[in-house]
Amino acid sequence: TYTLGPKILNWDGSRQKWLQEHRGFPSHVNGRPRILLVTGSQPSPCNNPIGDHYLLKSIKNKIDYCRVHNIEIVYNMAHLDKELAGYWTKLPVIRALMLSHPEVEWIWWMDSDAFFTDMFFEIPILKYDHYNMVVHGYPSLLFKEKSWIALNTGSFLLRNCQWSLNLLDSWAPMGPKGRVRDEAGKILTAKLKGRPAFEADDQSALIYLLISRKDEWTDKVFLENSYYLHGYWVGLVDRYEEYIERNHPGLGDERWPFVTHFVGCKPCGGYGDYSLDRCLQSMERAFNFADNQLLKSYGFSHRGLLSPNVKRIRNETTRPLEVADNINIRTSMHRGS
Ligand code: UDP
Ligand code: MN
Repeated sequence: TYTLGPKILNWDGSRQKWLQEHRGFPSHVNGRPRILLVTGSQPSPCNNPIGDHYLLKSIKNKIDYCRVHNIEIVYNMAHLDKELAGYWTKLPVIRALMLSHPEVEWIWWMDSDAFFTDMFFEIPILKYDHYNMVVHGYPSLLFKEKSWIALNTGSFLLRNCQWSLNLLDSWAPMGPKGRVRDEAGKILTAKLKGRPAFEADDQSALIYLLISRKDEWTDKVFLENSYYLHGYWVGLVDRYEEYIERNHPGLGDERWPFVTHFVGCKPCGGYGDYSLDRCLQSMERAFNFADNQLLKSYGFSHRGLLSPNVKRIRNETTRPLEVADNINIRTSMHRGS
């Protein structure tokens, strides 16, 4: 059967030894685990050229978030394993990054169609000390309903450890393109509530793995739903004005969603569940909503959530260091550094 590569044993031991021999590359900095965010897109241009512009906005949004929160970032465009092309690509990419970056404690995968919409929210990483995977989801939807949307693999974290390598090994076998992926899709559709008929996808395969081998995996999986590690865009994007009026960034939950994920949109090409116009407009709003939070520190704001143009929101000054928002961006966002 299919494997991601040679079976690696005792990764925890060899990684620990490596860390001891490379004190200049600690896995924790100022008491906080080192995090590497990885995202990416297909190797070739989008069928619809406007899609590439939104991929650019999406990576800018992630670079901005990561810069302010001291998170490293990787953009992958290669199919490291051609059998796992498409959305399955995240698995070999995560594995390769774990093995070549033993100093990284957590790998955070984020889809290209997911935007940070709370630039001040910081994930409560220390809460996950005893877990190896963090994914947005709901236990009852997973174990009782066996719903195919019980969790979302558009934004999740995996600890760099042997457990995660084992998980990837158990997760991957439904991925190989063609007959294997097609046949596995039939099993997933039969077993998971609400799943349409299509080839096996990484999200359904993870759900199936967790429910069919519950005792083996679930004690190390944290199903997060106290904030939007993933937030389904429908129902969020039309409320940004309301959040601005009532709340403030830094909350990450239904008062100010941390991530807005454009599930079902295909701006790059291909068949989506929503009209292209609605998707693009909504992405534009998400991007500008987030961008405003940082532009504010520089004294600017978009002219509206649909406008790429900006306006000045305060007068220029000869004493720039006395502007409160500049201080805000560092002290409230850069905790512990
Ligand atoms: N992706 C990738 N390479 C590919 C195809 C997809 O890196 O060749 C990534 C991309 O970040 C995308 C994610 O995998 O957002 C999920 O893929 P999918 O086709 O499900 O796209 P989505 O549903 O997120 O639009
Ligand atoms: Mn997605």
